[in-house]
Amino acid sequence: MIYQSLYNNSPSVNFKEATIAGQAPDGGLYFPENIPTLSKAFLNSMQQLTNEEIAYEVMRPYVVNAIPDNVLFDIIQETLNFPIPLVQVKENIFSLEMFHGNTLSFKDIGARFMSRCLGYFVKDNKRKVTVLVATSGDTGGAVADGFYGIDGVQVVIVYPSGKVSAVQEKQLTTFGNNIFAIEVNGTFDDCQRLVKKAFTDKSLKDEIFLTSANSINVARWLPQQFFYFFAFKQWKDKNNPPVASIPSGNFGNICAGVLAMKSGLPIKYFMAACNANDVVPKYLNTHQYIAQQSVSTISNAMDVGDPSNFVRILKMFNSDVNLLKEIFSSVSISDLETKHTIQRVFADDNYLLDPHGAVGFLALEKYLATHPNQQGFFAETAHPIKFNDVVEPLINQTIPTLPSILNMVNKEKKSKKVEVDYEEFHDYLLSIK
Ligand SMILES: *Cc1c(COP(=O)(O)O)cnc(C)c1O
Repeated sequence: MIYQSLYNNSPSVNFKEATIAGQAPDGGLYFPENIPTLSKAFLNSMQQLTNEEIAYEVMRPYVVNAIPDNVLFDIIQETLNFPIPLVQVKENIFSLEMFHGNTLSFKDIGARFMSRCLGYFVKDNKRKVTVLVATSGDTGGAVADGFYGIDGVQVVIVYPSGKVSAVQEKQLTTFGNNIFAIEVNGTFDDCQRLVKKAFTDKSLKDEIFLTSANSINVARWLPQQFFYFFAFKQWKDKNNPPVASIPSGNFGNICAGVLAMKSGLPIKYFMAACNANDVVPKYLNTHQYIAQQSVSTISNAMDVGDPSNFVRILKMFNSDVNLLKEIFSSVSISDLETKHTIQRVFADDNYLLDPHGAVGFLALEKYLATHPNQQGFFAETAHPIKFNDVVEPLINQTIPTLPSILNMVNKEKKSKKVEVDYEEFHDYLLSIK
């Protein structure tokens, strides 16, 4: 498979080059030259296949020539180390639980897959590769866990001191080994500026082989298609395909779902469920895309003011908004509605949502209210215990803890504290190379 920059101003690359580079030199996102079509025979036989077999079939056309088949199969087996069940919540609403991985968010799939691909690509390199990533929370944990112990790769996670949750901080700082955490006395934007500066620092890049694990990387984006195939595998009424409601921030997860549909997977409709960060809902109404400053909400992994992956979705509809709107819409859900939804679904259905899943649930419920013969699932993207500070007061109960959380609590936090100072940051990177 060949990947082209969406800005059309960079050389085409293969999967290996796209994974190592992250973004094209012209600043565009990489996009596959063509979208593979899956055979009817495969789609009809999914119920008889294992998740690994399905994932292998889906991924193979995208990596062919870059990773040998047997290595790809091993990578997929290591990636899929947790179940992804479809759980009924209401008569017409199901929850696709994507959060059973090590760091309790759906990002584990993309991070595990990418880390193993990168490990394979650099295994014969003389130089160690350093993955540099700024995080406001969930990404850093999934990347740290995914890359832990991968030979030839070290990870530097840059996060704002005091601005991530207690669970998230433990997930960033307790690994050790090839995972390093830098705690910046500043905001997430400061962290991102330091990281961006490092990527453009030519003299630093002469010393260190730097790459990013950003969510736009094709090796994180493409495997997220698996979720949608596993949902359909578990879908009972195959003649009445599901509506999929996906809590969206940077629009990577939902973009993978749309890609799966373009390959032939039956999905009736997509609902992009947003919080107060409503660039896309506004765009679909006005046809004017106006990037915003992000605003803080209780579903903070979706606080994105200029979602990077939305251009990939447009690309799949030749940038024709009206065509897109035939199968796609987007709504904005307030924090107050999100809280009420968590309380109501817990009381009525005995199902505990996290704030992100609650946004997805309510968006789906609203859609189905005007489409009574349809059914759907929403993506439950994180375990509610990750957001216990929001959820527990709403339901007046504590959430039973999990082994993975207990395990972390006793581990020692290890981080390097720095000021918002590029020289200090730069010197630290050189000191661990
Ligand atoms: C990252 C994240 C999202 C948003 O996913 P995108 O692919 O950026 O749209 C939603 N929920 C949780 C819990 C997340 O960590």
